[in-house]
Amino acid sequence: MNADEFRRHGHALSDWIADYQATLETRPVLAQVAPGTIRAALPRSAPREGESFEAMMADVERIILPGITHWQSPNFFAFFPANTSGASILGELLSAGLGVQGMLWATSPACTELESHVLDWLVEMLGLPQAFASEGAGGGVIQDTASSAVLCALIAARERAQAGAGAGAGAAPGPLVAYASNQAHSSVEKAIHIAGVGRGQLHLIEVDENFALRPEALAARVAADRAAGMRPFFVAATVGTTSSNAMDPVGAMAGICATAGAPLWLHVDAAMSGTAALCPEFRPLFAGVESADSFNFNPHKWMFTNFDCSCFWVRDRKALTSALSILPEYLRNQATSSGAVIDYRDWQIPLGRRFRALKLWFVIRSFGVEGLRREVRKHVGWGQEFAGWVAADPRFELAAPAPLNLVCFRHRGGEDANQAIMDRLNQSGDLYLTHTKLDGKLTLRMSIGAARTEHRHVERAWRRIQEEAAHWEKRKGQARHAD
Ligand SMILES: *Cc1c(COP(=O)(O)O)cnc(C)c1O
Repeated sequence: MNADEFRRHGHALSDWIADYQATLETRPVLAQVAPGTIRAALPRSAPREGESFEAMMADVERIILPGITHWQSPNFFAFFPANTSGASILGELLSAGLGVQGMLWATSPACTELESHVLDWLVEMLGLPQAFASEGAGGGVIQDTASSAVLCALIAARERAQAGAGAGAGAAPGPLVAYASNQAHSSVEKAIHIAGVGRGQLHLIEVDENFALRPEALAARVAADRAAGMRPFFVAATVGTTSSNAMDPVGAMAGICATAGAPLWLHVDAAMSGTAALCPEFRPLFAGVESADSFNFNPHKWMFTNFDCSCFWVRDRKALTSALSILPEYLRNQATSSGAVIDYRDWQIPLGRRFRALKLWFVIRSFGVEGLRREVRKHVGWGQEFAGWVAADPRFELAAPAPLNLVCFRHRGGEDANQAIMDRLNQSGDLYLTHTKLDGKLTLRMSIGAARTEHRHVERAWRRIQEEAAHWEKRKGQARHAD
């Protein structure tokens, strides 16, 4: 593809994306293809000679689009938002165009410095502790996902705990043990497994009636483990659990981490709900974060930034780099030796890294802080309104508190009713929502935060849910009649 062809196809592709986005509302949200359909439509082997861009785009329309679930649809209420924006898509394109490898400061100074700078902006924007800013001992880095962030935090914590154990004389140190609530994301368990700490060394702590970790249970377990000769070293708190948006008591957990014996590393996972901290009125949900050792949230969920972009801060960057830094000869350079620069390869698992700060910078500049706050407030407002509709309908019940934009609810008719309502809604293509289990019961999740969702889409979703509830009730009535 020469420069002129690139220019022509690039214009055509941006037109295509704009047209696609303009028609999202009319598309069935959930892809309805059977397994194997897409592969069956593709040639067995790669083409021998190059093909035209037009031919590729024709196949995108014919083969790929039917297999797309439209995450950017205004009727997408499943899982969590993965919202994007024009600014973010263009930032992503620019990053591809520059094709930069940002593993070291020296391999593209702007890639590193823009990242540090935008993450410092976010410390201020989210009201995070100043200790996370890069002027002091801390700093932020963009990871691919929250899963990588918790793994890095865990490895840094392990390094710190082992260094501490090495300093003390005498008895062999006991096994390491980590803690999270039984509602924490599966990435915590995966990190424990990957780090070789041992799956059994993650102690899951019970939750209260709101699905938030019980601090007394954590304190008791830590004390019992210490008494048994184990070495508690890591606690993961969640602000906004994936299942039900439960809020762990970060402040009480920080207090437990700080007391008696070696301090525990406190990591705060706010992958989705972290975006809410943009608004001062939601910051009480994050109270205690000022004592955390690390914090993570995903702009690629609810802050209009294309996947992947997961922001991760640490209070003590030395703890992270001493765990992850290795310097082979072929990466030695003057800037690194001077100690005056950040080399982000020492802050993550892989060596190579993309220029992800560009899209985040574009998003923040394009919306402005107030613009982002307006979006968050809109989504939370609609979440609260939806929760009110559920509460006012005697056929339904709220299954958990809805502090922000995720509403967990269920029809009182039991598993069969909720499964039928969800399946029929998703098959209709009118909207897409997913489920969880709370207290062992099937629960529907209404997650509001797609960039194109408007109030009328939320209203229609509730109307459609009520219609499917009525349909199920009618069928149930007929079945009873027939008995
Ligand atoms: C989505 C989510 C994760 C996992 O995010 P990835 O970036 O996909 O790894 C972890 N924790 C919470 C609370 C989440 O909501």
